[in-house]
Amino acid sequence: MLRFEHVSKRYPDAGDALVDVNFHLAHGEMAFLTGRSGAGKSTLLKLIAMMEQCTRGVVMLDGKNITRIGDSKIPYLRRNLGLIFQDYKLLNDRTVFDNVALPLVVSGHSHQEIGRRVRAALDKVSLLGKERKHPLALSGGEQQRVGIARAIVNKPKLILADEPTGNLDPELSAEVMHMFEQFMQVGVTILIATHDIELINRLGHRVLHLDKGHLVTS
Ligand code: ADP
Ligand code: ADP
Repeated sequence: MLRFEHVSKRYPDAGDALVDVNFHLAHGEMAFLTGRSGAGKSTLLKLIAMMEQCTRGVVMLDGKNITRIGDSKIPYLRRNLGLIFQDYKLLNDRTVFDNVALPLVVSGHSHQEIGRRVRAALDKVSLLGKERKHPLALSGGEQQRVGIARAIVNKPKLILADEPTGNLDPELSAEVMHMFEQFMQVGVTILIATHDIELINRLGHRVLHLDKGHLVTS
């Protein structure tokens, strides 16, 4: 599903953010990405999300080489990705429905199809009935579930989550991880950047550890 071959990334006027990184994730695999602040976790996720390009090496996503992908192809390829952020990145002046519908509106689906898919996504995160609420009227855990519904509404093959439980207490974090495990069981591949060592140890999935841009275990 995802393969890094000798991937290095250097930002202009900065040191190496990633150095000769090699790993692969199979279809339906769930892995944690760990490392101190500045180790290169966000950079690695940004290469997959096509927000940055690597300086050397090759990134393969679902059989396609996305290393030097043209800007015009990026929106199309991003439809296969679900992105989840620590700070949710919801539009606070839009309803829950509109937030979740956003990726579908961009893809040009019919009104009916959008309604059906948004409700299906909200159902998966146990938020059916909250469609008309605004994000700020919800708890932090509920806001993150809206973010997760938005990430899965296009039925992506790969979910990338950057510190998804960073603002949640242990109980809500466990709930979010349980949701990820359910997606994994239907064949979705999931890569989660996190500092939460306790959570990682408890769940026992694969761990990719970055140390100053070097992948230490894979
Ligand atoms: P992490 O997510 O593990 O905290 P990052 O990928 O954000 O690590 O950062 C890795 C390294 O790259 C750090 O040294 C950081 O300062 C540097 N870096 C990240 N983004 C940029 C950028 N846009 N320009 C220059 N340096 C950057
Ligand atoms: P930046 O922090 O660099 O401004 P963001 O992290 O806000 O960028 O978002 C980067 C890109 O990801 C944007 O093009 C945004 O539209 C897109 N994006 C944000 N959330 C999602 C999502 N859930 N699914 C797909 N794409 C998303």
